[in-house]
Formats: sequence, C-alpha cells, structure tokens
Amino acid sequence: MVPERPEITLVIPVLNEAAGLDALVAELHNCLDGRDFAWSVLFVDDGSTDGTLARIRDLNAADSRFAAISFSRNFGKEIAIAAGLKHAGGDAVVIMDADLQHPPELVRAFVAEWRRGAKIVFGQRQSRESDSWARQLYSRLFHFVFRHIAQTRLPLGVVDFLLMDRQAVDTINRLGERTRFSKGLYAWIGFPSAVVPFESHDRFVGKSRWSFVKLASFALDGFVSFSSLPLKVWSYVGALVSLAAIAYGIYFMVRSLIFGVDVPGFPSLIVSIMFFAGVQLISLGILGEYLARIYEEVKARPLYVVAEEVGTGAEARPVQAKRPA
Ligand code: UDP
Ligand code: MG
Repeated sequence: MVPERPEITLVIPVLNEAAGLDALVAELHNCLDGRDFAWSVLFVDDGSTDGTLARIRDLNAADSRFAAISFSRNFGKEIAIAAGLKHAGGDAVVIMDADLQHPPELVRAFVAEWRRGAKIVFGQRQSRESDSWARQLYSRLFHFVFRHIAQTRLPLGVVDFLLMDRQAVDTINRLGERTRFSKGLYAWIGFPSAVVPFESHDRFVGKSRWSFVKLASFALDGFVSFSSLPLKVWSYVGALVSLAAIAYGIYFMVRSLIFGVDVPGFPSLIVSIMFFAGVQLISLGILGEYLARIYEEVKARPLYVVAEEVGTGAEARPVQAKRPA
C-alpha cells in the first residue's frame, strides 16, 4: 500500500554536471514542491572532476533534502545507480539523469501509476529525434538481438528513468551480480509494472558521455548477463565446422575413388586440421567464458568505493568499500 503522503527519493547519478545542477534543482522545485508526496535527492557523484560535489555541498547546506554519496573515481552510471539504490531511503525511489533529458514533471505521473498498484513505473522514450541516426539504428539493433537471445523481456524504449516501489528496490539490492545491466534487472525481478511515455529533449548543457565503444561494451554486458547463447553458440559453430570437415572428407574419398589420387596426403591433412580447429573452438570458447565469470566472482572486489558522503548522516564514517550483496 502506498502511504497517504509517501516519501520519494530521487537517485541521480552525476558525472561532471556542475554547469547544469542549478537548472535541474530549479526544475525539481518547480515540478515537485507542494505535491501529495515528500521528496529528497540522493546524488551519486561518479568521480566528477569539475566541482560537482562542491556544488552539491552548497545545495545540502541550503536544503538538507539534497544529499550525495561520492565515489573515489568514475565507476560508470550502472554502478552509480546500484549504489544509489542501496543508499536510498523512502517509500519509493525514482532514478533519473541530471541533464534534464528526463523531465521531472513526469514524476507526478509515475506516482499516480504507483498509487494504482504498479511496483515499477518505466519512463518510455517516444521520440529519438535528438539522437543521431547511427545511435537510433544501434539501439534498434540491440533491442532486436536482445529480444531474440535473452529470456528476459525488455520493455521497448525504456531508459534509466523510472520509479521503483520499496519492495522492488529491496529486491534489486539483493541481486549480487557484478556485471550490472540494470535495464535487464528491472525486467527480471518481475512485479506489476506500468509505462509512462515521454518526449526526450536535447541535453541541457554539456554533451553525452557515451561513446560507441562504451555503448558496445554495455550491449555486450546485456547479452552476456541475460543469455547463455554467446556461451553456447561456440558449440554449434564448432559442430558445424566439424560437420563440414566430415563432409569434405567424404567428398575427397569419393573423388579419389572415382578419379584417383591427385596429391597424396593433402585431403586428410586439410580434413584433420579443420576438424580439430572446430573441436578446439568448442572447448576453448566454453572454457574461456566460464573462466572469465569465475575470475570476476572470485576476485570479489567491492562494486564501488565511496570516498565521501554529504548529508546522508554518515559523514563521520571513514572511507568504506561496499560489497555488491
Ligand atoms: N553518468 C554517470 N557516470 C558516467 C556517465 C554518465 O553518472 O560514467 C551520468 C550523467 O551525469 C547523467 C547520466 O548519467 O546524469 C546520463 O549521462 P549522459 O547524459 O551522458 O548519457 P545519455 O543521456 O547520452 O544516455
Ligand atoms: Mg543525457
């Protein structure tokens, strides 16, 4: 049940967003003050170097609803979100970007859906006009592949702008995986969900920090943590190569039975090279994938390192490292 006047924590990952913070804060006040819910903000400073944290300290001094945890370095937005969810209090948590590409006025619609019983309310991006055609194509391709190889259904056009009920947040916090692919996790945990469409605008200031290489490795994370197909596909590739080798072998045998031998020893050499290449592909691929995963887990490094907390009531604590689970 949603309380009469629920408390909502906005988790906002920030990487060098100092220039845009004032506009964001003004917009938050504008859209959220005087509603039927109380709100506060937990910034996750993902290793900013432009004085973002100093700006947040000022904000906190003026209004204690603004708090922050600050990483010791850049850990990436996915991990920033994971940390934010761990530290956030409140009856519901809203995750949003700092660059006003996620309009804060939508939070009201999120809360309305939440009151109607949804445990997760996704913001769904309608227009992708602000993106380059290459990025649009890329995103379509990703969704297409993900739909076909993963067991988890990813709501289309869903971005990291959503509201999660306390129960959903606690569930996400229990997932201890090291490769964070949050979009997949939101879908994986289940719960009744709702979707609120919105139009995305250009970044308010600064520019997007996602390069194609980053996006590619992000997509790979998504595939690998939600599908075992990349792991299994090598067995099929290897099997195909081996089959081709056998077929080739039969062809050579028949040919030399009919036309006689042309170069002695050549066919059997090619066939065995191909066959063993296939078998090696199978075994190496499988071993490598398992080994990489086991290695990541065995290292058991903390997911992130908090260097400083502002306004969370934990400032006095020494530097601490958080484990994923
Ligand atoms: N961000 C972050 N760590 C990063 C990259 C981005 O915390 O390594 C934050 C950034 O400050 C912003 C949000 O994630 O609040 C989205 O970043 P951006 O606008 O660059 O991405 P896009 O809108 O292109 O997806
Ligand atoms: Mg953005």
